[in-house]
Amino acid sequence: MLGGGPAGAAAALRLAQLGHRVCLVERGAPRLTPAAVSLPPSVLPVLDLLGLRSRVESAGFLRPPPALVRWHGAAAVDGVAAGPAGFQVDRARFDRLFLQAAQDAGVQVLQAAALPPRDQAGRWCVPLAGGGHVDAGFVIDARGRHGQPQGPVTVALMALMAHWQPRLGSAEPDPRSRVQAGASCWAWAAPLANRSTLVAVFLDAHRVAGLPQAARQALHGELLAPLDLLAPCVQGADCGPVQVCDATPRSVSDAAPQPGLLLAGEAAFSLDPLSSQGVPAALRHGWQAAACVHTAAHRPGQATLAWQFHRQQSRAVALRHQRLSTRLYDAAAHHVDHIFWLSRAGLDTPPSPAAEWPGLDDSIALDGRAHCSEMPVLEGEWIVMRQAIEHPLLDGPIAFLAGQPATDWLCALQGAPRLRDLLDAWHTRFGAARTQAVWPLLWQQGLLKAGA
Ligand SMILES: Cc1cc2nc3c(=O)[nH]c(=O)nc-3n(C[C@H](O)[C@H](O)[C@H](O)COP(=O)(O)OP(=O)(O)OC[C@H]3O[C@@H](n4cnc5c(N)ncnc54)[C@H](O)[C@@H]3O)c2cc1C
Repeated sequence: MLGGGPAGAAAALRLAQLGHRVCLVERGAPRLTPAAVSLPPSVLPVLDLLGLRSRVESAGFLRPPPALVRWHGAAAVDGVAAGPAGFQVDRARFDRLFLQAAQDAGVQVLQAAALPPRDQAGRWCVPLAGGGHVDAGFVIDARGRHGQPQGPVTVALMALMAHWQPRLGSAEPDPRSRVQAGASCWAWAAPLANRSTLVAVFLDAHRVAGLPQAARQALHGELLAPLDLLAPCVQGADCGPVQVCDATPRSVSDAAPQPGLLLAGEAAFSLDPLSSQGVPAALRHGWQAAACVHTAAHRPGQATLAWQFHRQQSRAVALRHQRLSTRLYDAAAHHVDHIFWLSRAGLDTPPSPAAEWPGLDDSIALDGRAHCSEMPVLEGEWIVMRQAIEHPLLDGPIAFLAGQPATDWLCALQGAPRLRDLLDAWHTRFGAARTQAVWPLLWQQGLLKAGA
């Protein structure tokens, strides 16, 4: 394992849980990610998968109320509690917790040299600091942006980040994080446990290129000034040094995969920070990469299948988040005529009108563009071939719905039943809770259509 961020630690922990001998080789140099990040509630299921939910919950990270959001084209969203809260975590402490969990499960943590792994006749040689090396059958490269395939890199989106420390005697900071769109940027503020607030402004990279510290500081303040939602975080507070960080989203490389080597987390793709999903996505991707290596190690005949699954999942994650952030850029671009928004919006593709809910007596059929075919899926600890549904509007194939094979759900659609009969059949077979979760999802994704 190369890299001890969320993706690397999750993959190492999972492989150790599956009984493998795992070395995690970490560089331990200053990171390119912010000192604190918001983890949305979507992190909870993946913490469950890794068996770390209670450990993270008892670590004392902030559980902030829902964020305040003001986005072009949408009203300010106040902190209305809906479902479980996510976390506001100090990245260094969060990553240490994961590394410790991996070590507790038997993972050996070693110090990396500044050299990439080398393929030596089917085995991988990973250089260590001090001259030695680890000889491995498989390498999961989870070095974050350092692990991304080399080539011309365009930096398009930058974050200008600073800690704002309230002056003595100023009021206690509001615990809610805030997100606000500006004229040519967007900004995020997260209160930290030490009363300071981390503020990041995301803007076009060319505006930051070559700026000395004083000019960065001035630009950071200038961009925040008109943002009324963020103003309370910086009023009566002193700004620390402003750091610059590449935040450009990148999709999965087209380069052919190398045998025995998998890229996990941000080494495989970079998500737009707008989705606030980078860490949950990296944890899940690491967990899946571990299943791929586990399959290839125990069932060498299935290695190609496992690598195919990994690629398919990497593309699906990147696409899902790209669609999500494009929707937000789109909303803003309809209200603000600035290249920052226009260049990121997908204005050429009008949003498909939300389909009206069908009546209980309408007949329901599978959309003609949906089809089922065999493809690799993760089942338990293995990558196996299963039937899955594909559709142009899906980010990737779906093999299971609410834990049941997707094709079992589709069987009930034969003969285009009336909606009330379809729901009855699903209730009887899968139960009310699963039916209530799956039916609206299939309808809203456009997989079902109503007849007369
Ligand atoms: C400005 C900004 C704000 C963000 N905000 C959020 C947010 O609010 N919520 C969220 O969920 N995500 C956020 N993200 C995304 C999140 O930081 C990443 O998605 C996440 O860190 C990816 O995890 P990773 O394990 O893949 O990579 P990383 O976290 O980058 O970990 C890579 C690891 O590899 C190690 N490494 C590097 N080079 C080597 C080497 N040569 N040898 C060995 N080890 C090496 C590094 O030291 C590090 O420990 C943000 C990103 C940016 C840029």
